Amino acid sequence: MKQQCIKVPKKKGEPVRRMLLELGILDNSVKIDTDEIFLYLPLTREPAPGELESFPEETKLTEFDFELQEKNPVPEDLLGFSPSYEVIGDIALLEDPDLDNEKASRIADALLQTKPNIKTILKPLTPVIGEFRVREFEVVAGEPRTETIHREYGCRYKVDLARAYFTPRLSTERSRILAWIKEGDTVVDMFAGVGPYSILIAKSKKPSKVLAIDKNPDAVHYLRENIILNSVKNIKAIEGDAREEAKKFAGTADHVIMNLPHNAFEFLDSAVLLTKPGGIIHYYGITPEDDLFGSSIELIRAAAEKAGRKTEILDKKVVRSYAPHQYNICIEARIV
Ligand code: SAM
Repeated sequence: MKQQCIKVPKKKGEPVRRMLLELGILDNSVKIDTDEIFLYLPLTREPAPGELESFPEETKLTEFDFELQEKNPVPEDLLGFSPSYEVIGDIALLEDPDLDNEKASRIADALLQTKPNIKTILKPLTPVIGEFRVREFEVVAGEPRTETIHREYGCRYKVDLARAYFTPRLSTERSRILAWIKEGDTVVDMFAGVGPYSILIAKSKKPSKVLAIDKNPDAVHYLRENIILNSVKNIKAIEGDAREEAKKFAGTADHVIMNLPHNAFEFLDSAVLLTKPGGIIHYYGITPEDDLFGSSIELIRAAAEKAGRKTEILDKKVVRSYAPHQYNICIEARIV
């Protein structure tokens, strides 16, 4: 079907294409076409007087018979609604906890048909629970496994989602923490999981050392694999209780990362013990909207005072919303 378009010599086509895009009148439902000399840029409407003023002189308004753009189908096209899911590596986690089996299977089929990078569809059967912060899953469709490799900021993390904690939702937060670290720093990651903070820091910042501690043997198994997978050297994986390990590395840390938001307050004495004078604790918590930071800051101050040390609050921020009226927060506290 003939459609209104801009005809411009090929050599001058790219800036014109960009200008049309900026004006919001380039029609991307059909394919841009060419002949030996000209480029034909389809329009969604006739340009208003003045809109073509800054275009090259050779630009002409004309008509052309365009071909329709072949559009890859998306899950919505097959389902009639937008499914809610999270992708970790090549696994999709269905997010609606109330999905019945029939609807879960329909969504899984649509994802497998339209998203070639997704190989397995999982439905969580429990929330993140227990000391090791893991979930149980049901395989809805695809390859029957819960292990995958997730890529983030140039690092690769192998993880079995049923055996160790991992979420891509903290990726921005990890890069925020990274900005605090300087070359030569010693970092203690008290609750390291499969290593997304520790490995990113070790790979990007030339720290003198990263101590990555976790109590879950399965998390440490993947942490060790991930250290090899990412070829990082200045990092030590430790399977153990952060409280016990803190005694062995007292006074060594420029930075202590406490990513155990529900229970970090129970480990504040150990975090203070780990910090050098002037070292910084990155404290995570889950707090109500009417007391986002106050009570947590008091807990940090109390732990420092108990050790005869002072606290300087450097930063505080909401990382993400956790539940209705509940937030995942982080506080940066210097322990002097
Ligand atoms: N920092 C990792 C991340 O971002 O993926 C993991 C965070 S996850 C919320 C908390 C981790 O703390 C879990 O891997 C869990 O096994 C570990 N953990 C819980 N209690 C611990 C303890 N007493 N000592 C060391 N690690 C512990």
